[in-house]
Amino acid sequence: MTNGTRVRIRERASGPGNEPLLNGLHFLWLEITPGCNLRCQHCYTESSPLVKDPKIVDWAKVLVDAYRLGCRDVQFIGGEPTYNTSLVQYISTARKLGYTFIEVFTNLTLISEALANQFRKHEINIATSFYSPSKEVHDAVTGVKGSFDRTVGGIRRVLDMKIPLRVGIISMGTNQNGTRDCIEFLTGMGVDRNKIGVDHTRPVGRGGSLVKLERVEETVCGQCWKGKLAVSWDGACYPCIFSREVMLGRFTGSNLGEILHSAQLKQFRKKIFDHSAAVASATAAQDLFAELLAIFSGPTTPNSMQA
Ligand code: SF4
Repeated sequence: MTNGTRVRIRERASGPGNEPLLNGLHFLWLEITPGCNLRCQHCYTESSPLVKDPKIVDWAKVLVDAYRLGCRDVQFIGGEPTYNTSLVQYISTARKLGYTFIEVFTNLTLISEALANQFRKHEINIATSFYSPSKEVHDAVTGVKGSFDRTVGGIRRVLDMKIPLRVGIISMGTNQNGTRDCIEFLTGMGVDRNKIGVDHTRPVGRGGSLVKLERVEETVCGQCWKGKLAVSWDGACYPCIFSREVMLGRFTGSNLGEILHSAQLKQFRKKIFDHSAAVASATAAQDLFAELLAIFSGPTTPNSMQA
């Protein structure tokens, strides 16, 4: 049995040990603007340069309220978070409050040297998406010519400045079968292989026109029961950035506690937890079966395969 399998089984079996995760607030997504300079085919927030930011949420208040509830990890996302000219101010607020992990999820097309310096100063982690080593394919996904060169330039800048970076390769029809080439390209640039993930398009926002919505448990990644919460640009709160159909309420200044303890959120987290546990058990059974099969099949050295 692999280590990962053991961890998954332990996680499922721990029961009450999951209480703090199921009921707490440990990670916050802040969608600080709906606007973006790109218009990606799969964008879950349907962002584009045409979407205006009404600036109706006081993000400093969200940070304070969440911190009071025990949250220490925050990700600024959008739209494109660098579109919000107050991003550095929010980052500074989060640092002063005592958040320990701060990440900016950006398309890296707008990273000036000054902004990168601020990221380094505040020890920010960067996350970005990448679609293809072919500029034509990448630009076809983002809908904006020249975005490949800008994102690659941003990746270079972040790497040069030794800012922690992780990259998500999102697979869809336009860049199908290109994952291995993406990984080769990114590692060739110096991105740590362990920081490159691969994901599929979620049936949310414009992604809904690319993939069909199945059960909600399959729309999300299965980790959102672990004390996570998303606050959108209009104050709407969701259990996760992808679970748009589960609107928990609107942030009004200091009500994250009510949202966190709502029956709706508890129900959602429990459902996702049970689904993840069932998937982990099925995977564990498959792993175990494969290991037993390997043991009883004996060694497969070239000699043993000779007739
Ligand atoms: S996926 Fe990200 S980069 Fe692309 S349009 Fe949406 S917010 Fe912008």
